[in-house]
Amino acid sequence: MNLGVQIVSFSVMLTIAFVYFTNKHIKLLSTRIYTLYLSVSLVYSFTEIFTIYTLYNIDTISPFVNRLAHQLFICTLVLILMFLFIYVDMLTRKQKRYKPIELIVSILPAVFAFVMTAFGDLEYHVGDDGMYSYGPVVTVLYCCLCVYALWTVITIIRRRRTIPGHIMIIVLCGVSGWVAIGIVQMLNPTWLIESMGVSLMQLFIFLSIENPREYNDADVIGALNRHAFEMMLNERCENGKEFYVVTFTLTNSELLKNSVGVNEVYNILGWSALKLSGVLRSDFYHTADNSISFIVKHKACCEKLIRSDFDKVEFSTSAGVKVNTSFKLTFIECPKYADSVEKITELMTHILHTKSKSERSILVVSEAIIDEINYLAGVEKLLQYAVKNNGLEVYYQPIYSTAKKKFVSAEALVRLKDKETLGFISPEIFIPMAERMGLISELGNTVFENVCRFARQNDIKQYGVEYIEVNISAVQSVDISLPDRLLDCMSRYGISSDFFNLEITETAAVEAGELLDLNMSRLKSMGCGFSMDDFGTGYSNLSQMANTGFDIIKLDKSLIWPCFEDNGDKPKTILNSCIAMINGLGISIVAEGVETKEQVDLLTEKGVEYLQGYYFSKPMNEHDYLNFVQNNC
Ligand code: C2E
Ligand code: MG
Ligand code: MG
Repeated sequence: MNLGVQIVSFSVMLTIAFVYFTNKHIKLLSTRIYTLYLSVSLVYSFTEIFTIYTLYNIDTISPFVNRLAHQLFICTLVLILMFLFIYVDMLTRKQKRYKPIELIVSILPAVFAFVMTAFGDLEYHVGDDGMYSYGPVVTVLYCCLCVYALWTVITIIRRRRTIPGHIMIIVLCGVSGWVAIGIVQMLNPTWLIESMGVSLMQLFIFLSIENPREYNDADVIGALNRHAFEMMLNERCENGKEFYVVTFTLTNSELLKNSVGVNEVYNILGWSALKLSGVLRSDFYHTADNSISFIVKHKACCEKLIRSDFDKVEFSTSAGVKVNTSFKLTFIECPKYADSVEKITELMTHILHTKSKSERSILVVSEAIIDEINYLAGVEKLLQYAVKNNGLEVYYQPIYSTAKKKFVSAEALVRLKDKETLGFISPEIFIPMAERMGLISELGNTVFENVCRFARQNDIKQYGVEYIEVNISAVQSVDISLPDRLLDCMSRYGISSDFFNLEITETAAVEAGELLDLNMSRLKSMGCGFSMDDFGTGYSNLSQMANTGFDIIKLDKSLIWPCFEDNGDKPKTILNSCIAMINGLGISIVAEGVETKEQVDLLTEKGVEYLQGYYFSKPMNEHDYLNFVQNNC
């Protein structure tokens, strides 16, 4: 009994099945069909060996068992080709679900072959030259195989644009090789090499399309990767039925990485995902470094999760050490709020970048959030246009000296010229956006150039303006080319560097590190001054603050306003201590957000050197500011 080819084919199939079934795979419809295709191939390989055994022992084995073994063998071969055709069809068609008529047409040749196999004549040849089966059933089998092979080839060629080129080539090569083996087998019936074609085709498809390792995530155990997520989403969107995308995001992941390490953060993500998948009854996907997402069919599962006390869950490392985690859980109803992969991922990105109000929050996407996203998308477009097409303007807000009792300076504040399209847009919205979009250097250059031009054209020093405050964003502050660009601009307009005080926010100053120190010391050595902006909103490292050489500290309004509310005693104590400490370090103070006479009096009495706020003036355009300084010099 020569079983060489069959044993090799069976081993190949068994190995593929082992790898396939021991790994997690995505639940695409095509993958489900592939699972059937692989299972039937495995049964086929085994039954082929069994038919050889029954033919070899044809004298002793019952004719019924022999015929049954051959019938099973033929039926599985027909099924394999039928599943291969449906699989390829599934891979390439848009609407995955079959209509009843499509299903009937697809299985018709197979049904015909089954009926023939059940009732048709089957002969056996056993001789010195070898053994094989023949007769009308085998002829029908070959016809049926030809129909499916041809159908598969036509389908993949017709829909070639819907799949990557290499997949089409692999399927075409596999089917052609298989047909070639079939023809050789037909001409030499004793060779019994058909199983080689089956296992080769399996190998081709497994390695190029269905290898589950391609979809398994490398970092979070048990998770599928982003590619798998997008493929699954695509199928759900094309299906058109309601589903939900639920995303768990560890919002303090960067902090956790520094404290417990990257692997522990992935462990925490994996652990949370397992817990959530118990409620959501779905696979989970590692969709962003700090996020895990689920594609959920049933609204009830989402509601159950929202009602549960997941926000009170305690997290710990694999060593059992408790860790403080901040996270947000978001729910997007699809296709209501997003009906394509692009729209869903855009929405997810937006939510990922939106700061949450509390440490652990649940966000159910609503019409209002969609409006906000559309608004922000509009702002992005406007900003991009403004930066490239002279659409920015600089406003000036005067700064009052309490000692000299006059306006000695001003802060330059950028504005988008176009106020008609979307109304006034706060720089607090578009500055972080410009940072994300990589436009901040260009924006910063335009602002600085505008200030230099304005100061030069109007010689504003003559009106007692000693210096101008210019904001430098966190991203700009660590840009190594910043000093050269600023110095170049100043020299082009012939303005000395001591006319500028560059504002860097407290948060940026604390987080920036060495590059900021380098930029600051270069600019300071040329004469530029520095202000720490928004003091009181971040976490100052006090000794660092004393040593980094800020000339001015700008007290944020959040430090000042509470002193004038009821129960303002504690805020007053904090403010007094801050003022005393900063004055003690020999650093000047600008109080921001001064709106009332009461505030002016108290801050002046406490020894604050400079005041800035609506009490004196709102930020003004060049023309109004020029009038203002001319009238107040
Ligand atoms: P900032 O640097 O702290 O600027 C002060 C902000 O407070 C300005 O808001 C100003 O209009 C506002 N303000 C001043 N006095 C009062 C007051 O009495 N009451 C109230 N309620 N607000 C007052 P604006 O112009 O909307 O700017 C917001 C932030 O955007 C700025 O905060 C600054 O961080 C950033 N920014 C503005 N222009 C630029 C720029 O050219 N470059 C960079 N990188 N950032 C800028
Ligand atoms: Mg500022
Ligand atoms: Mg400020």
